[in-house]
Amino acid sequence: MEPRRIKRGWMNLRVDKIVPETHDTRTLYLVDAEDGGCVFDYQPGQYLTFRFDDLADKPLVRSYTMSSSPCQKDHIEVTVKAVSHGIVSHYLCEKVMEGDILRARGPIGRFGYEPTKDLPRLVMIGAGSGVTPFLSMLREYTQPASALLPDMVLLVSYRSEEDLIGWDLLQEAQQHPNVRVVVSLSRQHHADFRFGRIDEALLAETLEGDFLHRTFFICGPKGLLTSIPAFLSTKGVEMAHIKTESFF
Ligand SMILES: Cc1cc2nc3c(=O)[nH]c(=O)nc-3n(C[C@H](O)[C@H](O)[C@H](O)COP(=O)(O)OP(=O)(O)OC[C@H]3O[C@@H](n4cnc5c(N)ncnc54)[C@H](O)[C@@H]3O)c2cc1C
Repeated sequence: MEPRRIKRGWMNLRVDKIVPETHDTRTLYLVDAEDGGCVFDYQPGQYLTFRFDDLADKPLVRSYTMSSSPCQKDHIEVTVKAVSHGIVSHYLCEKVMEGDILRARGPIGRFGYEPTKDLPRLVMIGAGSGVTPFLSMLREYTQPASALLPDMVLLVSYRSEEDLIGWDLLQEAQQHPNVRVVVSLSRQHHADFRFGRIDEALLAETLEGDFLHRTFFICGPKGLLTSIPAFLSTKGVEMAHIKTESFF
């Protein structure tokens, strides 16, 4: 087995490419400024912590999950949504340009599928930018060389059609026989999507009442992180099979 590649301390990452996702979200392709490519190994669902020394009178530190997959060796991607009055997210979405250097350390985090502990039927539940860890997982676990997972279900909600982060990838992923993607819009009725937030009814319908023998991953606003686990526990799902990640 190849030794794990780890780069300790703060790294200089160069913005190699910028891809707009939606009106307020963009994906930054990052490479190691000294060594090129992605010089560390990571698991889908992990994040990097970025440090910004010049945006305020004290350094600002923010985390961003990799939306790329570890199978992409030549770069990593982070997908950033500009939040209302947010200092760093607006900087990353509006000011950062190709060629700029960002300081980051990591990878960090345990919000991912652990084959030795987790049940291999995954249910991923996200809202808005909370889809980013699931973009990484879908990329990783649908590639032919990856360990085949028997069932991956993604339920994701966005405000409207204009907010569909990662939509190209989601369309591609749902062609995979083991993947199901359910998209719901919370503020727009649209013939191609469900309407409303992800709630107990949509979850029960999607899983056809079969909640057991699955690992649940939930990433999004606080409401989702409390209401869905509470509902799952009434269905007999053990807390060990529910993983949550808060972006706040
Ligand atoms: C583990 C982890 C992973 C993350 N991954 C991602 C990611 O992949 N993509 C991404 O876009 N963001 C991600 N975030 C959120 C990110 O770290 C920042 O919190 C976010 O970009 C806002 O930072 P800011 O400096 O712009 O806002 P701030 O200046 O810190 O806050 C300004 C205002 O925005 C509100 N706010 C803060 N954070 C959020 C948020 N996440 N959503 C809505 N409102 C918010 C605050 O309440 C405040 O009113 C992640 C956070 C964590 C902890």
